[in-house]
Amino acid sequence: MNCDVLVIGGGLMGCATAFDIAKRGCSVVVAERGAAPGQETTAKSGAIIRAHYGVPELVTMALEANKRFQNFEELFGGDAGFRQSGYAVLVDEQDANTLKLNVAMQRALGVEVELLSPDEFKAMAPSVKIDDVALVAYEKNGGYASPSQTVNSLVEGATKKGARFLYRAPVLDAVARGDGWQISLGDGTSLSCGQIVICTGNWSRSVGELFDLELPVVPMRAQIVVVERPTSFTGDFPVVSDLINLAYFRSEGERGMWVGSSDSADLKDFQSIPLRGGAIKHCPDADPGAINAAKNKAALRFEGIDALDKGGVQRAFCGLYETTPDWQPIIDSFETVHIAVGFSGHGFKLATVMGEEMGCRVEGENSPFPTQIFDLARFADKRPVASQWKYERAKFLR
Ligand SMILES: Cc1cc2nc3c(=O)[nH]c(=O)nc-3n(C[C@H](O)[C@H](O)[C@H](O)COP(=O)(O)OP(=O)(O)OC[C@H]3O[C@@H](n4cnc5c(N)ncnc54)[C@H](O)[C@@H]3O)c2cc1C
Repeated sequence: MNCDVLVIGGGLMGCATAFDIAKRGCSVVVAERGAAPGQETTAKSGAIIRAHYGVPELVTMALEANKRFQNFEELFGGDAGFRQSGYAVLVDEQDANTLKLNVAMQRALGVEVELLSPDEFKAMAPSVKIDDVALVAYEKNGGYASPSQTVNSLVEGATKKGARFLYRAPVLDAVARGDGWQISLGDGTSLSCGQIVICTGNWSRSVGELFDLELPVVPMRAQIVVVERPTSFTGDFPVVSDLINLAYFRSEGERGMWVGSSDSADLKDFQSIPLRGGAIKHCPDADPGAINAAKNKAALRFEGIDALDKGGVQRAFCGLYETTPDWQPIIDSFETVHIAVGFSGHGFKLATVMGEEMGCRVEGENSPFPTQIFDLARFADKRPVASQWKYERAKFLR
């Protein structure tokens, strides 16, 4: 089999990349190790769409990504399940000034975000407890989407444009041949292609080795708990990033509430991830300590949630953040090999923007987005990407 471009990895990043490349009329194949697209980190994603970042380049790309979720059907031909519920960041006195500085920077870049008093926010979201809150940043265009709907729409759209998706097709070997690559897949077949895009998330370290690239991506285990809301508190509420108790919350269906931690101490290095060809071992379920902690954090922030209630949990699970040393992505190109990996918790929202970025790189066009600071050499050169104004407790996670 021959193609212009092989995308390795059929998570959201690979699917969005295939969509853009196929749209340009190039022949593109996606090789995915699993039985279906988007079953790994993408399936565990909170899928929250926000532009609240401390790095201006990320703000710019997240803002563009948000616009795409608002017009997803028109742009990609399917539904992403986007709920424009709003997105709020809650801080106490010690982080109020940092919030103001970040919001001023975001507004200068075009983000529609405003500063609200706790009472103004309470009027919008009556179930939120605000006694310890000093200031709120509210992005009305923020919200969350559905990972499965987003992936399926992109796969369908890309397929209609001519992309081919191979499942149970792990890439096991790569040999430079002529001006392209000869690729061996786990099913014993091989294919040749001109260019490669690596979109292998948590598996990028081992896939990078095939191309003599050292990609410093480390899986970090995050635990998610979906707690039950009372009958008096149903439907969508704004996504809440609570930088006081280091947690984030969003609606999950009519009665559920997704609770995630934004405390780096809760993340565990998960090194036992299998290499290229190995069976996929999933990380263990969330542990009882994490479930209790999530319920406590939800009870601290929302009316009507009982931390001591013996039930009250719809589901609890783990996901693996694909992290780099500075918790920022690696977006780079080495002649015929392009890289979009290590999104460290930001990748869901950025995927369609990255798809276009990779499409441009494949075609040798100038990058439309400010991706230069996310080059691979920054780690060796000791130029980590960092927010200018860091929150006291959340640090690099925001
Ligand atoms: C708990 C959690 C919450 C999150 N919440 C958010 C959020 O609210 N908003 C946000 O923007 N981001 C969020 N993220 C981050 C986001 O989900 C990820 O950045 C994004 O899904 C990464 O997509 P990906 O395609 O790069 O990786 P994956 O979805 O992991 O896809 C990589 C694919 O590569 C395949 N693969 C690996 N090796 C090979 C090989 N050798 N050959 C072929 N295929 C291979 C794998 O099978 C896999 O399907 C969250 C992440 C987690 C864990």
